Amino acid sequence: MKAMLLKGKNQPLVLDNVPDPVPGPGEAVVRVLACGAGLTIHHARAGRLPIQYPRILGHEITGVVTATGAGVTDLKNGDAVTAYFYLTCGHCYWCRINRETLCDNFGGYVGRECDGGYAEYVKLPAQNFIKLPEGMDWKKHPAEIGVICDAIATPLKITRKARVTPTDTVAVIGAGGGLGVHMLMVARWAHARKVIAVDSRAAKFETCLKVGADSTIDASEGKVAQQLIEQTAGRGADVIFDFVCTKETIESSVAGLNKGGRLVLLAGSGQRFDADGPAIMRKEIEVMGSRYATKQEVIESLELVARGDLWPLVTEKVPFTEAEAIHQRLEVGAITGRAALLMS
Ligand SMILES: [Zn+2]
Repeated sequence: MKAMLLKGKNQPLVLDNVPDPVPGPGEAVVRVLACGAGLTIHHARAGRLPIQYPRILGHEITGVVTATGAGVTDLKNGDAVTAYFYLTCGHCYWCRINRETLCDNFGGYVGRECDGGYAEYVKLPAQNFIKLPEGMDWKKHPAEIGVICDAIATPLKITRKARVTPTDTVAVIGAGGGLGVHMLMVARWAHARKVIAVDSRAAKFETCLKVGADSTIDASEGKVAQQLIEQTAGRGADVIFDFVCTKETIESSVAGLNKGGRLVLLAGSGQRFDADGPAIMRKEIEVMGSRYATKQEVIESLELVARGDLWPLVTEKVPFTEAEAIHQRLEVGAITGRAALLMS
């Protein structure tokens, strides 16, 4: 099959021929129709994550099952599916209580510890494929359907984690990125009173406002906490989702929270920060970490898109052989929303 291969640390992706994957016991092979290209994948492409080469990247997949291995009973050829990003064991304590992002036997990531979706076919443990719901037009919109499993599921999870209510003002740090844009969308869907987009790239604000933000803060001007407080009549934001997670963004988020405020840290590599303990206690502030989403949250995200509640923003769709050009644009932050590769 044809695949876009990453052959070494920070090398350009190159088109190559590799053997067609054959499913072993408990595995399935899927013909890929589309695969999302986001920042998480780009960190791997750019050599910022440990990886064994050569590797086929990509985890936001829309595809059709073409072969199943021994013991696979819940998938059959022709099933339309997406993929779950994490390789989890399915039987530890955390997997059993539906919190598999905390799996005790965490096996890594699709497209990093095993080959992913930048190829004509992808082989994964059958439990990593999630069937698409009835009524979802995956043939017409494979790119949009493919990115739901991360770009919608992750915001859905943290919207619940932060308990967003209709009286809450929500701020999104890194709002112009692929995850941030969808976070604005989901916060709006969750009926937040006001949604504030915070980003250092003002060129992305037009899109932020279009998908759900009510106002914007240009972080390149600094003083983000002060601006958050000014935009909320002196109170501060009730919920802040920080997708940048540097020392600077975390500290300004804590300072920009209202009483009873919730801060969720997710994505980026994360940094240590100095916290104002007395303020956290006095204001009953909650600081939460989060990572990705559960399979249940992916299933629910698919359902929400299928019924028209939400629709992913894929602004660039290119043939998969042009993956490297998309990653060059990801490197410089030039993509708004998500990009996706199309296989056919
Ligand atoms: Zn587990």
